[in-house]
Amino acid sequence: MSDRDVDTPSTTGTEWYKDGLRFSCTQCGNCCTGPPGVVWFNDDEADAMAKKLGISRATFYRKYTRKVGQRHSLKETVTEHGHDCVFLDRESVPGKAVCSLYEARPTQCRTWPFWPENLHSPMTWRAVKRATPCPGMDRGKLVPIEEIRIQRDAHLDE
Ligand code: SF4
Repeated sequence: MSDRDVDTPSTTGTEWYKDGLRFSCTQCGNCCTGPPGVVWFNDDEADAMAKKLGISRATFYRKYTRKVGQRHSLKETVTEHGHDCVFLDRESVPGKAVCSLYEARPTQCRTWPFWPENLHSPMTWRAVKRATPCPGMDRGKLVPIEEIRIQRDAHLDE
């Protein structure tokens, strides 16, 4: 985002999305790749992912995570697309990139793109949509404010 993208006082810090936002994932996988990043999860989420994989929590941490400061993030695999999440599956569905742990994916993934930092203002929402790029934002199903709040505030429990 350029430093010309300055928020206006009328939209910053308010629920400018009170009428809802459109979002329908196209399964392009762009939000699961790109530059190096982190995917955070808590112990319950680690257990859910380990269970889905049929392995122990200890094995899950050893094989699929890396230490970042005091926390653990999911590992990434460098591909022609960028740093793919280790669980991003580009093979099973032709032309799509899907999460191989979908039902057990952590909060960070479940709540995309309704993260507090993405919702800061219309400007940040558009910048994230452009930078990812996420073709699912501003298209398809209208997500009501009540659901956006649940996804936005899920991050407060981490
Ligand atoms: S970038 Fe957007 S459309 Fe593509 S997989 Fe992620 S959420 Fe779906």
